[in-house]
Amino acid sequence: MGVIGYPLGHSVSPAFQQAALDHYGLKMTYERWETPPERADWRFGGLRPKDVLGANVTVPYKEFAFRFADDLDEMARRIGAVNTIVNIGGRLTGYNTDAPGFLRAVREDGGFDPTGLPALVLGAGGAARALAFALAEAGAAPIFIANRTADRATALAADVREALSGASVETVPWGEAPAESRLVVNATTIGMRHGGAEGESPLPAERIPPESLVVDLVYNPESTPLLEAAAAAGARSLDGLPMLIYQGAEAFEMWIGRDAPIDVMKAAARAAMTGN
Ligand code: NAP
Repeated sequence: MGVIGYPLGHSVSPAFQQAALDHYGLKMTYERWETPPERADWRFGGLRPKDVLGANVTVPYKEFAFRFADDLDEMARRIGAVNTIVNIGGRLTGYNTDAPGFLRAVREDGGFDPTGLPALVLGAGGAARALAFALAEAGAAPIFIANRTADRATALAADVREALSGASVETVPWGEAPAESRLVVNATTIGMRHGGAEGESPLPAERIPPESLVVDLVYNPESTPLLEAAAAAGARSLDGLPMLIYQGAEAFEMWIGRDAPIDVMKAAARAAMTGN
């Protein structure tokens, strides 16, 4: 198994997936498959031999993997992006485990059940799409979507409404946060230490509802600008590590058929991020 992306300098997936394999004493490897664009067809085609169980897929290949897969899980089809591939007998099935991974993180680590509650999603890229569908399936209502490029928010809201009749999804202008929001999630790259707009928060503290749980998908070893703003607003917060682990745990369970050792994976990811 391995993770496919470009560049891959930031990925901690190899560390925590290998720790999970080693935990069970499996003689298997999870590799770092950094793949420049001209090698993408070769890399994805190379997942078909029987000694390859599958792959995780990260930036910028989630849409590529969606097109490359032979079969698609229903959630991946709706989202339009694949972050996990399972190879069964040379056929590649595409899944999106970001959506269930996010819900598990919010419920288990955030202690928050989104059902029936207003939620604000910041962003309209691949991760935001996964969140919007996950929250709609979980019954969050209304779901507000704010994105710098407003057209993408409008298109995402329309896609969710079309796929899930009864879903309550609306767009709000970038920079605004409806006061009734009980969940605020950053699914933009703002705050990423490498390649993102570091230093600023997608929302200032005075716009963050104090009653909300604030989740930042960006995972830095220390904090992020949004999580600092959440603390200043008196809101609860959750970083991106639990979601990262849970999306990987779902993939591990599909490939290996055993329970993912969550505590082992979390410890290995933290160690890889902090260098300890
Ligand atoms: P993406 O598809 O490239 O989308 C990027 C989003 O960020 C878009 O909505 C974009 O807005 C917005 N954006 C970028 N720069 C901005 C700026 N300066 N001001 C305002 N908005 C800006 O990326 P993605 O795959 O969705 O990933 C988004 C983040 O989630 C990344 O940090 C990724 O590492 C993280 N992530 C974490 C997990 C996890 O398990 N914790 C899982 C998946 C993703 P426009 O549409 O206007 O360009």
